[in-house]
Amino acid sequence: LQEGNIVIVGSGLIGRSWAMVFASGGFRVKLYDIVQEQVSTALEDIRKQMEELKKSEMLRGALSMEDQMALISGCTDLKYALHGAQYIQECVPENLDLKRKIFSELDLYVDDSTIISSSTSCLSPTSMFTGLQHVKNCIVAHPVNPPYYVPLVELVPHPQTEMATVERTYNLMKKVGQSPVKLMKEMDGFVLNRLQYAVISEAWRLVQDGVISPRDVDLVMSEGLGMRYAFLGPLETAHLNAEGFKSYCERYGEGIKRVLATFGPVPDFEGEVAEKIDQALWEDVRDKADQLKAGREYRNTCLSHLAKLKKEM
Ligand code: NAD
Repeated sequence: LQEGNIVIVGSGLIGRSWAMVFASGGFRVKLYDIVQEQVSTALEDIRKQMEELKKSEMLRGALSMEDQMALISGCTDLKYALHGAQYIQECVPENLDLKRKIFSELDLYVDDSTIISSSTSCLSPTSMFTGLQHVKNCIVAHPVNPPYYVPLVELVPHPQTEMATVERTYNLMKKVGQSPVKLMKEMDGFVLNRLQYAVISEAWRLVQDGVISPRDVDLVMSEGLGMRYAFLGPLETAHLNAEGFKSYCERYGEGIKRVLATFGPVPDFEGEVAEKIDQALWEDVRDKADQLKAGREYRNTCLSHLAKLKKEM
């Protein structure tokens, strides 16, 4: 068992996943939410997810399912939840006013050693943490959905975040089996979404210009680039495709610049192209909910197998 409690604020999709990740690492987890019913549903859902994981032998960590489940408790009393907390992971809806309200409340109750971390996907640390008494202990730890299978966590500091906060968060993430990366400074979209948006933007343009169908552009990723990217990043891929990265730039730099110059302006993400892509992605528009459910299950199964494979490599 690890020392110090982890507090999850907000027991939705991401809060539940974080609770399971920390419990798999042997931490005691308090799952806090404003509504009792929400907490009960979350605990039931976590048990169900863990049972599934156990059945498919995908449960993470060295502890048994029952031991992991016993580490997670729910509560609706914030002050009680924060007692003995070493690390808080905020997971409330993506709304700046709500997040600021919660951080100013946490600021009142925590002591100097507690880390306050946000799961935000796109709010900046400056907009959320500026003015807090414990700003040096505040950080963004942005997970990728679902964090149980996709280990990346982007750590983004506020300009006043202490180095020790970054290091402690980094070490905690490593301890529970996540893969943290450190951003040296704030950047809109952090890094994962900036890379993702570059890809979405070009996919949009290729469909718009009639170069390729939406289904085929997805295959280019899943059957092509994605095969490498699950193991090697774009920079190392380039490095290995020549005699090192510098040699890659010498060989291919001119060609890359020529192609990049044809990328054009930022797409508007509405209208005919949006309609065309949307239509292509539904198999049958009559049962959208079923398709989304099946698609997400497929995604999770694929990701869990990939996670297992990556561990074995
Ligand atoms: P969600 O809507 O599933 O869950 C939010 C939870 O917060 C709900 O259980 C709600 O009851 C609770 N809540 C609302 N107000 C509260 C309050 N005042 N105090 C305590 N709890 C409160 O949302 P989610 O998808 O889990 O997203 C949570 C955060 O994680 C967001 O900031 C989001 O940007 C980020 N995130 C989401 C994803 C994703 O794919 N869903 C990925 C990475 C990061």
